[in-house]
Amino acid sequence: MSGKSSEEQLLEFLYACPVGLIECDLAGDIVMMNPHAMQHLLPLAGPRDAGNLFAALEHHAPELRSMATAYQATMGRVCDGHRIFVDLGPGPRTKAPRVLACTMVKLGADRLMVTLSDISQQVVQEERLRQADTWFATLLDGVNDYAAVAIDVEGVITAANACFTRQTGFDSAVTMGRNLAEVLQCDNTGGDLRLGEQIEIAGRDGWHLQEGWQARANGERYWCQRLVVARSELDTSPFTGFSVILRDVPRREAAAEDVRRLLTCDHLTGAANRRHFSQALEREQAHWRELRHSLSLIVLDLDHFKSVNDTYGHPMGDLLLRRVAEVCATLLPPRGIFARLGGEEFGALLPRYDREQALGLAEQMRQRIAAISIETPDGALTATASLGCATLDEAGGSIDSLIKLADERLYAAKQAGRNQVHRLTADAA
Ligand code: GH3
Ligand code: MG
Ligand code: MG
Repeated sequence: MSGKSSEEQLLEFLYACPVGLIECDLAGDIVMMNPHAMQHLLPLAGPRDAGNLFAALEHHAPELRSMATAYQATMGRVCDGHRIFVDLGPGPRTKAPRVLACTMVKLGADRLMVTLSDISQQVVQEERLRQADTWFATLLDGVNDYAAVAIDVEGVITAANACFTRQTGFDSAVTMGRNLAEVLQCDNTGGDLRLGEQIEIAGRDGWHLQEGWQARANGERYWCQRLVVARSELDTSPFTGFSVILRDVPRREAAAEDVRRLLTCDHLTGAANRRHFSQALEREQAHWRELRHSLSLIVLDLDHFKSVNDTYGHPMGDLLLRRVAEVCATLLPPRGIFARLGGEEFGALLPRYDREQALGLAEQMRQRIAAISIETPDGALTATASLGCATLDEAGGSIDSLIKLADERLYAAKQAGRNQVHRLTADAA
């Protein structure tokens, strides 16, 4: 054994440890952190105080602070593998969003040990598996309606089910070994993505779905939902091929959107999830640049939600979150997106909405939320929310600034007494 003291050995371990380790007090002030923790924390802190764990993560995981303060015991596990979805704003297109797992252990009355580890890859894999699960379940529900074709990475057909022949009129024995795009002649279809393009996107995102005209062997056209899912045998291996699912569906533009929603929603409330929201923001920002349509954002945070949990219990809190998402979603314009951004914080993305329109909608949301009443054994549960709006024009086209502006206004609404939409005074405008 080496002659190193146990303290030296501990220090060595802390430096070499592939997980971020942070020791801090209950207020989040950091006493010690290893290089890995620094690597994770500094980019997330941005302009915020990187010397305080909760301040550094305020934008990404505001719930950590309340989890730590809400934890009553002097020692024990405050959270285990709590997921932090890091939102660094628009970056290079290929950069996957990062996800950190955070475990917080209370070691004493004012002492926390926190680990941060990067689990982005694992989350991507989980998401793919979930997508695959959803689709298998759908397939089993209506086996006869789905033509399923397996292709290799070159697009060559390796298997097809009986429905493929029924639906398209192509005999699967004859088409085996041929290129699917050639068989279906699906690369000649107007404005739709080519199969090769779908495959490229599926390789990147795990899946891609679109609807469009498709020709049968006899030349007849039908409206077809086409899903391409990437297949990989092992977690770490590259794709071994793709599954293509073809559905003969009534022509209804909303159908593809329905399925897409299934894959992009927050599981508790059914609102869009944060990741989908960020992607939509980036897309809309691109449209804003090209077309100069206005784009607005509303952020909304429920008031005193912690006391809702404390008074009525967590399940009632959950129910309230669902009701809020429900009433707000019904107020959305056709291309608007309503998302759950975190615990009890929501956002509405409003393409083509100017400031006045956004303020009008925010006020409607406020009123609808204030009108919610849920019967509980402890009496009627009601809620209010504070809201802030901002437009991309005001933010000079930056998504970061857009979110920051809306957040600041939301905070101002809280400061001004809650249950209100922050309105700019004439001179602040
Ligand atoms: P404020 O008016 O300042 O926003 O006060 P608040 O109590 O709403 O704010 P705070 O951020 O202190 O508390 C938010 C609470 O939301 C704390 C957390 O326990 C709770 N929460 C976060 N996610 C969920 C969830 O999924 N379900 C339930 N029931 N509660 C949640
Ligand atoms: Mg709140
Ligand atoms: Mg909040």
